[in-house]
Amino acid sequence: MNREVVKTDCATARIPELDFEIPAFTQKGVLTTIEGIIDRAIAGLEQDQPVRRATDKEVANKIEEFIDKLKQLKEVHFPFTFILDDPSGNSFVENPRAPQKDDALVVTRYRRTAEQAAMLGLEGEELDEKPADSAEDLRNEVLQFNTNCPECNAPASTNMKLVQIPHFKEVIIMATNCDSCGHRTNEVKSGGAIEPQGTRITLRITDPSDTTRDILKSETCSVEIPELEFELGMGALGGKFTTLEGLLKDIRELVERNPFTLGDSSVPSKMKKLQEFLGKLQENVYAPEDDPELRVERYQRTFEQNEELGLNDMRTEGYEPEGAPGR
Ligand code: ZN
Repeated sequence: MNREVVKTDCATARIPELDFEIPAFTQKGVLTTIEGIIDRAIAGLEQDQPVRRATDKEVANKIEEFIDKLKQLKEVHFPFTFILDDPSGNSFVENPRAPQKDDALVVTRYRRTAEQAAMLGLEGEELDEKPADSAEDLRNEVLQFNTNCPECNAPASTNMKLVQIPHFKEVIIMATNCDSCGHRTNEVKSGGAIEPQGTRITLRITDPSDTTRDILKSETCSVEIPELEFELGMGALGGKFTTLEGLLKDIRELVERNPFTLGDSSVPSKMKKLQEFLGKLQENVYAPEDDPELRVERYQRTFEQNEELGLNDMRTEGYEPEGAPGR
């Protein structure tokens, strides 16, 4: 249940034992776990249950039964099969025993049908579009290298995969699992080049459903919640492809684990502020505005920001971005 899963929006997820299917293009791409996928399905079905109970009791009861079955899956009352079928080849299920063989996991590569190619917008271009650059070759394989566990320092291995996340850019997902202490991390790094300008994205959270929005936070991005006077510096959490809820959870864990992240001293007033912050995070951040509003601003980086990115010593004039849009 804890295996990491990358499911792109063109992938179909199936659990044949339950006759259950999440068809392609009904969900955005997610980086989650098998449990996360089941949770999302349960949440989706539960959403309209109060209305159904009022209008069609029979259907509501049937759906309730199915929700119970999904919940049983999470307890693994019986063995079941999870099938992820992605004609784009970009979905991924983690092998927790890597680099050892994973007896529970079968990966089958197949040639796309004409219909699948058309669905992906690859019609007729498939032959011309075979790019020869190394980034493209890397795309379909999981690379592995040896690292040390950040928690206990035992030798561990990191799996790396280049993924084109729909509506986002190309990113590199790196997952490290420690056999020694069980520590797991996953990190998302930008695969493309640094953009000519910085980006500031302001999201007004007006509805609890906003917490399910997908968020791609690069490793050089800082996060601010002005209502809580909270600021997370550049690089504190690394890169993440998650939902707003997932990001808030990560922030909470980070703050709980290491209160010093927020500053270099632990004076009593700072600790008090922290406790308040954790309390407010638990209640879910909710701003009482009427209109959800997302603002994206491009801005010129300051000298200090360029310094942090190591760009001041580099020639940035006439620069060609690698990950040209529309690939
Ligand atoms: Zn460890």
